[in-house]
Amino acid sequence: MSQITIALSKGRILEESLPLLAKLGLEPAGDIDRLLRVPSRDKNVSFLIIRPTDVPTYVEYGAADMGITGKDVLMENGSDALYEPLDLNIARCRLSVAARVGHKPGNGTRRLRVATKYPEIARRHFAAKGEQVEIIKLYGSMELAPLVGLSDVIVDLVATGKTLKANGMEETEIICQVSSRIVVNKAAMKMKHAAIQDLLERIAKVSGP
Ligand code: ATP
Ligand code: MG
Repeated sequence: MSQITIALSKGRILEESLPLLAKLGLEPAGDIDRLLRVPSRDKNVSFLIIRPTDVPTYVEYGAADMGITGKDVLMENGSDALYEPLDLNIARCRLSVAARVGHKPGNGTRRLRVATKYPEIARRHFAAKGEQVEIIKLYGSMELAPLVGLSDVIVDLVATGKTLKANGMEETEIICQVSSRIVVNKAAMKMKHAAIQDLLERIAKVSGP
């Protein structure tokens, strides 16, 4: 049996991945809050615990055979180098455009300013509508930007809308739905086909919509 390394996204995706893995008898056997690499109860499977945005890189280079990360991350870093065979239907949310309540942006003379952690997704979204925008890249707390005049709108993940509301903002457009996906290294898919196929089938059974 081949050894399989799975890159897990820490944070909220990990919290929702663990129950799913447990159903397969694959819970990490170690301190996932401190270790970066942990074995599982199955001696053929081990885990890397890394940031969601790093998962595609580890899998693309084959440092992990497969991984779990958000569709938002995959869309932003758009890579053909990975297979994306399975939607896990976990960590569900959506990518949206949001603005201050009552402020209708985008009718001024200058270009709309968009603050976001997702410059590529934002650029594509507005380009598809024929809108030239100015993208301002941020790394967190996007809701602050319109409040202090840094941007007119934000492009960010929304789950309940509570954070937006608390900051006097509202969704103005939904760009797309987001959930976490399995990604697989292309070479591993060939070289470790049986083991990976078996895992994918078992995961598919416990990840219904
Ligand atoms: P990084 O900065 O490396 O992307 P992070 O530390 O921000 O990671 P988390 O906030 O724990 O990581 O997880 C972010 C991922 O969780 C997102 O990429 C998305 O796929 C998923 N997610 C699901 N719901 C939400 C939500 N309401 N807000 C943010 N992320 C969410
Ligand atoms: Mg975060």
